[in-house]
Amino acid sequence: LIEWDKKYIWHPFTQMKYWLSDEPTIFIEGRDCFLKDVDGKWYLDGVSSLWVNIHGHRRPEIDEAVKAQIDKLAHSTLLGACNEPSILLAKRLAQLLATKLPWGKPLTKIFYSDNGSTAVEIAMKIAYQYWVNQGIKDKDTFVSLREGYHGDTIGAVSVGGVELFHEVYKPLLNKSIQAPAPYCYRCELKLSYPSCGLACLGEMEKIIKQNHEKIIAVIVEPLVQCAGGIIVWPEGYLKGLRKLCNEYNILLIADEVATGFGRTGRMFACEHEEVTPDIICLSKGITNGYMPLAVTAVNEEIFNAFLGELEERKTFYHGHSYTGNPLACAAAVANLEIFEKDKTIETLPPKIELLKRKLLEIAELPHAGDVRQKGMIAGIELVKDKKTKEPFPYNEQTGWKVVRAARKHGVWLRPLGDVIVIMPPLVVSEKNLERLLDVIKDCIIGLS
Ligand code: PMP
Repeated sequence: LIEWDKKYIWHPFTQMKYWLSDEPTIFIEGRDCFLKDVDGKWYLDGVSSLWVNIHGHRRPEIDEAVKAQIDKLAHSTLLGACNEPSILLAKRLAQLLATKLPWGKPLTKIFYSDNGSTAVEIAMKIAYQYWVNQGIKDKDTFVSLREGYHGDTIGAVSVGGVELFHEVYKPLLNKSIQAPAPYCYRCELKLSYPSCGLACLGEMEKIIKQNHEKIIAVIVEPLVQCAGGIIVWPEGYLKGLRKLCNEYNILLIADEVATGFGRTGRMFACEHEEVTPDIICLSKGITNGYMPLAVTAVNEEIFNAFLGELEERKTFYHGHSYTGNPLACAAAVANLEIFEKDKTIETLPPKIELLKRKLLEIAELPHAGDVRQKGMIAGIELVKDKKTKEPFPYNEQTGWKVVRAARKHGVWLRPLGDVIVIMPPLVVSEKNLERLLDVIKDCIIGLS
């Protein structure tokens, strides 16, 4: 397998194909919060694979739902037809979104696709055409945040703000303006929170004020900019952003691909600031890692802008081959049922407290520059010099050093640069969570 992997697979992020070890880790089994490799070694999965396995690996209820669906129908198209699981999931999701985000027009129209990037791509196309369908054709610009990450397709890259990932594609991208990220540890405006009075939101306001006639939508990852380095926003930023969008009649797209489904301690991150976006993008945790699936949900007003006679050309010309795949939708329905049955969100507060306590211990270490947490998402930003916040040189790959050391101790992690990411399944036991943090602590100590 190793030989064929080396010969045939082009792994994402070419040079990091084996996450900087010499050979690929080949997983053959998953149970609860653990993954087993081909040599029989078990790892505690500290990042839910790629932030997807909310209820851990293999859940009997989801296994059963997928098996039962396979016996009935594995796939059929959603173009001019439908299938049972996709309808049941849409109904459940629409009700969930309306209940959890009741501060604006409910997000009750569900558009399916296959991954987080396409959920974003679709949100961008819908937002643009929403205006065009109303005769407003001079809007051509999105506003997003520096250090934002919304996926790897061209549209998603256009609104992305991580230089390392996005710079090379600049000539191909469509128009977007980026505002400073609410990244307090490395504040672009050289201010500190809370005395700054959210000056970064003031910068966003300036951009919106100057360009509002051209702006289609603002797209952000509410509360935590994940792939940009687990940047946790200061309180009030999201609420202020919603206010600005209302004031200037601009759509707000919430990319909750990573933060959705309980990650932040609420079902959706927007709940923390009582904000209802106009469009929400969901994926990752939706099927608990069983099958690729994504959702772009909008309110009725947006959906209605796409109705009309054929010759009016208001149709949303978009649809994928696997849209609304019955197996994926059956997995997602079973996953949402577990949230209800196990009261997943209600079980989180003690784990969130434990995580906080362990992070405070880690914050004392000489190379822990900043520790950030929102619910069950955490990041530890490693620095060479804690006083000056000087980062480690890029070529030293310090984040990877910690991650490789953790793997020796049977803990599976993946860093973002020199930020150690902690996103275990929400069902992680307190004992395993404590072990996860203890191993990370020891590996960071090992840097000194
Ligand atoms: N948006 C956010 C906020 C993400 O974190 C990601 C994935 N890390 C994406 C979009 C893209 O999702 P996918 O990798 O499924 O295309």
